[in-house]
Amino acid sequence: MKAFVYAVMMADGCSWHVSLDMRADRDYWTDQAGGHFKLRVLEPALSFGQACEIKRKLKASSSSSDMLESLRTAAREIGLSSEAVADWKLWEWTGTAEGLSDEARHFVNTTIDAMYLSLKGRYLLMEEFMGLMQYEGSQAVAESSAYFLQLAWIQGRIQLEAGVELDRSEGRRWSLLPQALKGKCKRCGSQGMFGGQAGIEASPVRWTHCAHCGGPCAYCEACLTMGRSRYCTPIVRVNGSSDMNSGAPADEDMEIYLQAWGLSDVQAEASGSALQFLKANKSLSREKAQSPSAPRFLIWAVTGAGKTEMIFPMVQYTLTKGGRVAIATPRRDVVLELKPRLEKAFPHTKVVTLYGGSEQRWEQGELTLATTHQLMRFRQAFDLVIVDEIDAYPYHNNPMLLYAAEQVCAPAGAYILLSATPPEELQRAVKRNRLPHARVAARYHRHPLPEPSLLACPPLRQMLVQNGLNGKLKGHLASSLERGAQVFVFVPKIAMVEPFVALLRQSFPTVNVQGTSSKDADRSQKVTDFRATSIRMLVTTTILERGVTIPKSDVFIIDADSPVFDSAALVQMAGRAGRSAQDPRGRVYFAAKEKTRSQAHARRQIAEMNVIARKKGYID
Ligand SMILES: [Zn+2]
Ligand SMILES: [Zn+2]
Repeated sequence: MKAFVYAVMMADGCSWHVSLDMRADRDYWTDQAGGHFKLRVLEPALSFGQACEIKRKLKASSSSSDMLESLRTAAREIGLSSEAVADWKLWEWTGTAEGLSDEARHFVNTTIDAMYLSLKGRYLLMEEFMGLMQYEGSQAVAESSAYFLQLAWIQGRIQLEAGVELDRSEGRRWSLLPQALKGKCKRCGSQGMFGGQAGIEASPVRWTHCAHCGGPCAYCEACLTMGRSRYCTPIVRVNGSSDMNSGAPADEDMEIYLQAWGLSDVQAEASGSALQFLKANKSLSREKAQSPSAPRFLIWAVTGAGKTEMIFPMVQYTLTKGGRVAIATPRRDVVLELKPRLEKAFPHTKVVTLYGGSEQRWEQGELTLATTHQLMRFRQAFDLVIVDEIDAYPYHNNPMLLYAAEQVCAPAGAYILLSATPPEELQRAVKRNRLPHARVAARYHRHPLPEPSLLACPPLRQMLVQNGLNGKLKGHLASSLERGAQVFVFVPKIAMVEPFVALLRQSFPTVNVQGTSSKDADRSQKVTDFRATSIRMLVTTTILERGVTIPKSDVFIIDADSPVFDSAALVQMAGRAGRSAQDPRGRVYFAAKEKTRSQAHARRQIAEMNVIARKKGYID
């Protein structure tokens, strides 16, 4: 997108600005200063990113020749050549007292008011902004988007910033060539270095010859599935503000928020602590509004603890106070599964669900349920942000999604993080008492977590080569089938699924054995059949380590010593067993040649939770 750099000169001085549409600036300054101002506008127009960078380098200056020279100097500092700026000139426009008619001004102001309201808490690329305006039916803005954006920007009601920001802090002359610059995507936080160096293909921020600005231009590859964030186009940002009522009494009884949901003792205790955290946070919010990051509370709940019900009290509390809530989860199927439960729990609240391709993309509601990617379209929008499965793919080692999640909390808001297997950084913070948290050590049915047994067993590859199951392994599998359990068999690699299915079929010819993985188009059908017990044994990978609950099931992890299975994955897979009250004592086996640290760590974590639960009287 093209933008103008210009100076406005008034009796009391001069200031520099960037404009997408000079007509908006003319109207604005006419309103501000009557006829008593001059505009000096640089020709030609530049890319939006260049215009913003040059503007930041300029200082107020008085005479016209100085101005052009200052512009050229600033341009060279951001890497434009002397030839490129040789033809630059300034044209001057002298203000008149004749601005908009009262009628026109009224129309423009009400249009901007409406635009501002629908943008609150949003962070949008231009095409997303246009999509929102079309959804809102704002014909005027759709037709003259540059004019209205520019006017709202210069009025200070919205912010515009380049999608990709370049870091020129290196300072040395040769590094000012675009190819050696660092770039950062403002939307997803990805950073990269361009040109020359090795590994450039992997850099998330890249250079391309850009059809929009006609020059070499940086864009972000990392968040491309959400639209292209570029150096040359503005992102529209309107920080949200909290509407939460902060006048609640300090001695407010939090019990009322806990009662409605039929929580077990152990669930209620964790939710109660989280509520106290929210309450304390709200009374602190004034001072805290200045601190950079919102406070976090971790709910460390064992697999099968019933965490969805546990978040209801905090959601209710925030909604009751007029606040807005976001629940972010890594996967789309979880969004779709949670939606009806939340709608049922909060029938008078508008629930908006967001995921790739969702129809509610531009709707606003008090309760937003979204895949984490979708958070990139928000800034400081929510008073309570609940982040589900913080350790799971795709958060795990994905700074982009963490960045997105970190941007969306309103200044006085708070985060609640949910996990059965928190990442090490959080576990350390818990141990050092640096992270407020609640442990939910027991499942709602008051039985201990099944503790995994170690099963000495040759590597899977060897069993395949010898074309025979290990005798002990076969015995335990047979025993699980005999007791009527559904049998989960986890293997480390997709390529092992089918060969192992064949081997199991050979050993159990009368049993329906199937395999599935992330590459399997029939996966959800197979999970359904497994739940319905028409499939008895399901061989799979970590793709099913969480989210799937089968009432009566046993878990076998083959090659449990594989580096693919870290302790979190082992805990999650083990967590498939014993989830229902009808069969709380499922069996879990780590079948492996070696005893690894991950296995030991996973067994210790599970045993520790049982000890805590027993001590607190949460299991019988
Ligand atoms: Zn990005
Ligand atoms: Zn461009």
